[in-house]
Amino acid sequence: MKESSRKQGAASPCAACKLLRRRCVEDCVFAPYFPAEEPHKFASVHKVFGASNVNKMLQELPEYQRGDAVSSMVYEANARVRDPVYGCVGAISSLQQQIDKLQAQLALAQAEVVHMRMRQLADFPNSPQINANKQSRHQQQKSHFDMDNLEDSFWH
Ligand SMILES: [Zn+2]
Repeated sequence: MKESSRKQGAASPCAACKLLRRRCVEDCVFAPYFPAEEPHKFASVHKVFGASNVNKMLQELPEYQRGDAVSSMVYEANARVRDPVYGCVGAISSLQQQIDKLQAQLALAQAEVVHMRMRQLADFPNSPQINANKQSRHQQQKSHFDMDNLEDSFWH
């Protein structure tokens, strides 16, 4: 995948070099991440960060981290283009608000569950736990009764 885009880059410039109107050299730092068939990616990154800053950031990173850095820059740049004031911070804070709202809803639902359990215990004392206790007591009584019977038949 990388090699094919590089070969294409050698024949036709990558999206970055094409926009910057420069010759795409064989070891072009942009070529692996900004293929010619996705021109919008470099366009928004260039608009927000500037080509030389993108170049500097990529040069400072080890190669295995450059793909992630480019994805992150593209995401941030697109968010900044959509929302010039808050950029991706706008998306983060709106998601944070959603989390807060959902956590409040969850806390409310959990409190309701506790409340309903308490009411169930108060309204229906014959809950399965209490029944289980009664049954074992009943069984004990029954066994005593059997013993009594046995003794009765033995002595009479
Ligand atoms: Zn290039």
